[in-house]
Amino acid sequence: MRECSRCEGWIEDSFRFCPWCAAPQRLKLVEFFAASPRIESDDGKALRVSRYLADRHVRFSIWKERQAVEALSLDEAEAERLAAFLTAPAPPRERLRRVAARVLGR
Ligand SMILES: [Zn+2]
Repeated sequence: MRECSRCEGWIEDSFRFCPWCAAPQRLKLVEFFAASPRIESDDGKALRVSRYLADRHVRFSIWKERQAVEALSLDEAEAERLAAFLTAPAPPRERLRRVAARVLGR
């Protein structure tokens, strides 16, 4: 159960609309991302990301041949941590090469 953001009536979590005021409860934004063409095993796959604005969570699903094959949801705090991870500046390539050489002992 949760509270409707418009009328503050209590509604079941699975309801898409509030039964008291008809406000939509599962507003979401959806975007598809294509797999890297450089990774052969990901051929034909896509990542679908759904942001549920009322529930405040993000759901990731892997699609292959027009069908979801796996899915996972992150709560808002974990989604924000993921966004920070993805938007942090990447180290320069030369630094990556040095770290890889050190790890691989070459
Ligand atoms: Zn309502």
